[in-house]
Amino acid sequence: MNTFNSLNGNNPSFEKDYLTGLPNRQSLYRYYAALDNHADMVHAMFIDVDHFKRVNDTYGHSMGDHLLIAISTYIQQHLTGFISRIGGDEFVAILDGNLSKEEVSRTAQLLVDGFRDMDFRNDILSMISLSVGVILSQPSSQSLDDILSKCDTAMYQAKYDGRSRCVVYESSDTAFENTFNIEAEMEDALANGEFVVYLQPKINMVTSALSGAEALSRWVHPKDGVRSPITYIPLFEKNGFISNLDLYIFEEVCKMKASWKGLKYEHIPISINMSRLHLYNEKFPDTLLKISQKYGVPQEELELEITENIFIKDSMELIDTINKLKEKGFMVSIDDFGSGFSALSLLKDLQVDTIKIDKEFLRDSANDTRGKKVLRNVITMCKDLKMDVVTEGVETKEQIHFITSCGCQIAQGFYYSKPLALDDFHSFADKYTSKPIESHNFRMNGNLKTDDGLLEGQFQGSGFKYVQGIFRNSSSLYFPGGPQEQNTVLLPKNTILNDSYTISVWLKPKASHLWTSAVWVKFETGFCSLLPLAWEGHSSFRIRDSKDINGWYDVSGAPLQEGFWNHYAVSYNAKTETATAYINGDVVGIMENVPTNRYVIQIMLGGDTWQPSYVGNMCELNIYNEVKDHDFIKSLFESYLAHPDFMAYEDNDSRK
Ligand code: C2E
Ligand code: CA
Ligand code: CA
Repeated sequence: MNTFNSLNGNNPSFEKDYLTGLPNRQSLYRYYAALDNHADMVHAMFIDVDHFKRVNDTYGHSMGDHLLIAISTYIQQHLTGFISRIGGDEFVAILDGNLSKEEVSRTAQLLVDGFRDMDFRNDILSMISLSVGVILSQPSSQSLDDILSKCDTAMYQAKYDGRSRCVVYESSDTAFENTFNIEAEMEDALANGEFVVYLQPKINMVTSALSGAEALSRWVHPKDGVRSPITYIPLFEKNGFISNLDLYIFEEVCKMKASWKGLKYEHIPISINMSRLHLYNEKFPDTLLKISQKYGVPQEELELEITENIFIKDSMELIDTINKLKEKGFMVSIDDFGSGFSALSLLKDLQVDTIKIDKEFLRDSANDTRGKKVLRNVITMCKDLKMDVVTEGVETKEQIHFITSCGCQIAQGFYYSKPLALDDFHSFADKYTSKPIESHNFRMNGNLKTDDGLLEGQFQGSGFKYVQGIFRNSSSLYFPGGPQEQNTVLLPKNTILNDSYTISVWLKPKASHLWTSAVWVKFETGFCSLLPLAWEGHSSFRIRDSKDINGWYDVSGAPLQEGFWNHYAVSYNAKTETATAYINGDVVGIMENVPTNRYVIQIMLGGDTWQPSYVGNMCELNIYNEVKDHDFIKSLFESYLAHPDFMAYEDNDSRK
């Protein structure tokens, strides 16, 4: 005989929760204390409503209240046992230990699965779900706190595994078992160096180069081996120890970077997770600054990841701290972007460097066309706001194709690498820092291939000839001209992979038509064009932004001399929205506030869609996927002149 049947929630001696009429937390403890310590076994369930905050934030608290009442009815319909509400959206059920384990697990699963069909507004139900942690067959001689903390851990695991699920606490699982020792052990563990930094690489998907890494903590326990953050981070966040851990990890990262002097990846930025607790601490930015200075690590190589979820409350206070961090020179990123509902207003108010798209957001979005559109536009918007975008949780080639086509280049995910212990990271980094392909040289010296042979242009039409180039022993390509788009060359569109770029080329144009393009790049959002002879024979670097009817931008400069060799270079800087044109190594025009074009559709040499094609010569076309500055362009130009076989100007002279 056990005491379950005599003690149920309707017993008038139990204090009721004002809202749902369920017993409250105190009653739960009283109920538990009244169980027969020797005879009774219990099963317990911890039920938490996922994203309940969203409902309060979106529909107001009174709707939130209605929802909680409906949920408590729903739970009571599904479970028989002692059901209590112990906090806002948290319910605990104690079930009779005589019920079979299978039955309890099945009931918990039904509770989760049937939730969407509950009697409530569908639009609201579609925002939320239940995460349930279950513990089976515990003697009631065990303290309720122990039982709740095991249930709680299982519930966190459910959330971590992606929410809307039920996780049964496995007592054989060492990760779970040790939860109870964690609070007793944590301080010594930190002092003994049991917490270590693992690094997960961030990779530029286009160039396959290492672009940074995220520091993730691991607890290397002397007895149990490596413990994953899920076993201790949620607990540290509750008991406040996370502040100590985060600062420790931050300092470890600084030490590590200081020891990287001379390595080729010495300067890659490393990001460190920072819990919300720090952000209420005014001294926090100074503390970080002191640590980074102590090890001589430049602040701009340190990035602080702050999860989006924390911005729901107290945003203004947090924004202040973030601004201070930025003032000190640190990089700041918003982590888990798209996992909460605060996303859009955050973008408006926060000046951060990087947005990290949440792995669940990626997984959900990649599955349907609407989701894809949202993701694509989020990426575009972030880039318009001059923020870098990193996609987390990239696991497949398909995801890479999709995200890169959306204009995001940096990925962090198992496809490239799991978080790695330092030694493993070093070997990984050695491989992935091999020089990224950042420039393509089409010399047009007898073929249309790049120096590295990786890319090759294609003729469209006829009448081309390879004739004398700018060096004694090199050739250039002669373009015969023709109607629109005819007798042109197409370059692979992945020649340009970046919103910012630099194009350098030698041209000897013939004045057949003004406004004819020598190099023309068509983007989904407009085009850019290098016009050797535009306004009354002056050159022009023209950018068209087709999102805006009046979006025409001409960086015009000195004329390119007809019938002579000229060095023409242009660059576009998407960060500063500046377009610059150079002739023979000198700046001839700069224009600011030129909007960014994205997603290359076609790269054409010697013509465009509207004008008759280019007549004249071209060679030494270099396309860089980054902005080159004046010094670079100048020395590039001078290096041509200094070449022992350079003869372009002799050619000019002979024609004079
Ligand atoms: P996070 O900041 O979102 O870190 C990324 C997590 O996603 C890591 O889990 C990583 O292993 C995992 N991940 C990366 N790529 C993939 C993928 O392709 N697929 C899947 N399914 N997962 C992927 P990890 O290392 O277990 O860390 C979990 C969380 O614990 C972190 O989430 C972070 O919020 C927190 N954390 C870890 N170390 C620290 C720390 O030192 N301080 C603070 N405050 N939080 C930490
Ligand atoms: Ca993170
Ligand atoms: Ca994240």
